[in-house]
Amino acid sequence: MQKPLASLDVRPVRAFSDNYIWLIDSPRVPGRVVAVDPGDAAPVHAELRRSGASLAAILLTHHHPDHIGGVEGLLELGPVPVIGPEDARIALRNRTARDGERCDLPDLGLGFEILAVPGHTLSHIAFWGHGALFCGDTLFSAGCGRMFEGTPTQMNASLNRLRDLPPETRMFCGHEYTAANLRFALTVDPDNRTALEYRDAVQRTRAVDAPTLPSPLSLEIRINPFLRCDIAAVRASAEAHAGRPLPEAADVFAELRSWKDTYR
Ligand SMILES: [Zn+2]
Repeated sequence: MQKPLASLDVRPVRAFSDNYIWLIDSPRVPGRVVAVDPGDAAPVHAELRRSGASLAAILLTHHHPDHIGGVEGLLELGPVPVIGPEDARIALRNRTARDGERCDLPDLGLGFEILAVPGHTLSHIAFWGHGALFCGDTLFSAGCGRMFEGTPTQMNASLNRLRDLPPETRMFCGHEYTAANLRFALTVDPDNRTALEYRDAVQRTRAVDAPTLPSPLSLEIRINPFLRCDIAAVRASAEAHAGRPLPEAADVFAELRSWKDTYR
């Protein structure tokens, strides 16, 4: 039932200052949409009214309020599957998505694999299917989420798991952080020509207030320092910042993450 990449239409709905709520159009039933991480109901209601679409399901990657806060308001439209990780903090979930399972919505012609990606939060999951990855706050373009609950080893393993997906995968992240992330990426990896060129493209995109997402994984593998902890230049930069050798990729990741936490 997996459709070719081009057939999955996904549109961004903006929420708060920099969140994206993704609306996936059903490839099977025109006008039926699935909302990913609706932190706020109002902009989704507005987009549904504007486009004449109706809500068929809700996918949730993690429990943070800016990703689930709109669920209650959307359920006022009527009951739909609310699919998310097993976590008591997601009270309105009515279907649990577990690592290694599939999340199939056959009526809509949609199906995703569930990947557990602990680190930003312990129960964080990602949805992967149709060449698209909905990764919440685990992986961003040119960066990654803050590590609120997991360990560096856990989060590094989660990022490696996403890095190993097919390179043509399109990454739909929870926030528009690309420009700021690229500044840090180029501090870590200043001679990265792909990142330098991409920074200019991102500046042009953001100058007209357009989204920089989705981003192809094939690009992220070349520019995102958190996916490049095994690359010599990235390791050398992390070691220089730490002032000590960092033998394992997870050590490089831990240093980059704590460096980024205080980077301005
Ligand atoms: Zn979050």
